[in-house]
Amino acid sequence: MNKRRKTRQVKIGGLICGSDSPVLIQSMCSVRTEDIEAVVKQVKELEDEGCDLVRVAVPNFEAAGNLAEIRRRINMPLVADIHFDFRLALEAIKQGVDKIRINPGNIGGEARVVEVLEAAKKHGTAVRLGVNSGSLEHHLWKKYGRPSPEALVESALDWIKIFEKNDFNNFVVAIKSSDVPETVESYRRVAEKCDYPLHLGVTEAGLPAYGSVKSAVGIGALLLDGIGDTIRISLTADPVEEIRVAKSILKSLHLYNKEPEVIACPTCGRIEIDLIKMTREIDERLKKIKKPIKVTVLGCPVNGPGEAREADWGIAGGRGKGAIFRKGKVVKWVEEDKLVDEFMRMVEDEEA
Ligand code: SF4
Repeated sequence: MNKRRKTRQVKIGGLICGSDSPVLIQSMCSVRTEDIEAVVKQVKELEDEGCDLVRVAVPNFEAAGNLAEIRRRINMPLVADIHFDFRLALEAIKQGVDKIRINPGNIGGEARVVEVLEAAKKHGTAVRLGVNSGSLEHHLWKKYGRPSPEALVESALDWIKIFEKNDFNNFVVAIKSSDVPETVESYRRVAEKCDYPLHLGVTEAGLPAYGSVKSAVGIGALLLDGIGDTIRISLTADPVEEIRVAKSILKSLHLYNKEPEVIACPTCGRIEIDLIKMTREIDERLKKIKKPIKVTVLGCPVNGPGEAREADWGIAGGRGKGAIFRKGKVVKWVEEDKLVDEFMRMVEDEEA
């Protein structure tokens, strides 16, 4: 895997987004920002699952007016999502959010964008500079005929110049498309042309099964290139699900070090136990271990030592008895009904 692309460091509340920090996981509340209790409750659920920063929609002044209280009651940086009305951005900044997301192309012209940047500068607020088909400028539609990667990147680079001209550098860049090849191409192009941190996402990815795959393909391809500093998985689902998928993508690329990775065999005709049940139980019980250990769960001991060689721990079911592996070597045979409990006791003794 390529090394992370070197970026500037952008300060978002108490977090740093950029190549010197881990890739940050973010999500967006699905409840109304007008309902403070519902937002705070959902942010807590996202925090428990491992979310690093959270965004809320700010469609009106009632929502904007709640931001200070929401910020006070949560433990992670708060991002205000603003479209069309620059006054909402000014209010969000005044309320003390850590970052605002704007698509400068739909906020009412350069003068208003500059006004927002001045306020952000004064309050130390970070900005996400977003570009998508909906915010693409008229002249770029005319030039390219459609929101192609070339058009979206040109729009982003034009806005980056304007931000820089106004001495504003505390921002990340996002170029959104629901098309995976175009998303990857756009980010690769913009990554070559600037050194700002990049917010990755495949927008409107869909229901969890397809949306997770689509996101993993697009975001995974970029992360393998070393591109990407914060990710959001857009799923048509409870946002907690987005965090689970984000963690899995990062984990599969060795970019997440706060929990174990469970590798399980696909099962075959040799299986003698209920492997799916056993894997689910182990996966759940391992959640309390906040380390990136590798655990292999196998249906039978036939290939156990070989398949568990790369893992820190391994467990293999069998007829009546199962084996526990440590670094590829069998260290214990245990009665099947006590196998999972004994395995977890040994893992916890050493790793917890
Ligand atoms: Fe089959 Fe055993 Fe391999 Fe699982 S570990 S796939 S049950 S041979």
